[in-house]
Amino acid sequence: MAWFKRSKENISTSVPKKDMPDGMWTKCGGCGEIIHKKPLEQNLFTCPKCQYHFRIGSKEYFGFLLDKGTFKEMDKKMRSVDPLKFVDTKPYGKRIEDTIRKTGLNDAVRTGEGAIEGIPVVVACMDFGFIGGSMGSVVGEKISRATDVARKKRKPLIVISSSGGARMMEGALSLMQMAKMSARLAQLSDAGIPYIVILTDPTTGGVTASFAMLGDVHIAEPSALIGFAGPRVIRQTIGKDLPEGFQRSEFLLEKGFVDMIVHRKDMRDTLAKTIRHIWDGEKQKS
Ligand SMILES: [Zn+2]
Repeated sequence: MAWFKRSKENISTSVPKKDMPDGMWTKCGGCGEIIHKKPLEQNLFTCPKCQYHFRIGSKEYFGFLLDKGTFKEMDKKMRSVDPLKFVDTKPYGKRIEDTIRKTGLNDAVRTGEGAIEGIPVVVACMDFGFIGGSMGSVVGEKISRATDVARKKRKPLIVISSSGGARMMEGALSLMQMAKMSARLAQLSDAGIPYIVILTDPTTGGVTASFAMLGDVHIAEPSALIGFAGPRVIRQTIGKDLPEGFQRSEFLLEKGFVDMIVHRKDMRDTLAKTIRHIWDGEKQKS
């Protein structure tokens, strides 16, 4: 006797391509180990065997970085319009709508206020799952507003970056965000408020060329791809093979581009220590 009946039509063999593990088991992108969802979650989405850092979204990042129940989201409902009526494989307006439905997010960054080990902070975390974490008007405006809140309330600003670059569907409106955010961050710096960037895989293009490289401290996750143009583009342009590990966190640490590489499980503690250290230095100056 069968205990349950399942018709064949209900069995789906197609697995959607996602950065975040969807089922109970997932394959490590580093060592190929098959890992169960539970230990992966407990390990903050890093491989228990090889420490490979899976790509995660703002929900997961805020979940382990901030003190429980402290996160208050800002500008949650802000959405992109389609000023250029841009059409590639589909109209941009439709792409936005579809992505909102698919991800449950309104754009590629979420911002808000919270606390880390009791220290009040302003945070922004990008979501690569939203059109490749591309930076358009909404990302620019939300980060600018978060920077203003950090300055006015004198709270440190923490930005967690992951992006494929500027959002080409918004053309120059996307590119001008770089100047806008950089100007706001300069005001933050003048006010003596700490700004810390956490660079995660991948951080590229216009994001690297603006707010992701303007921190007082740059922390990278292990083996993250960080650069302006991607390695393929550079290889094609200069016609030469690139050095081993080029544009990875470890290479950039060696060249002085990032200040430290921190495992996700030590991120919260490192941030709290770094902020306290900078604050103490500021107090001694004044
Ligand atoms: Zn692994």
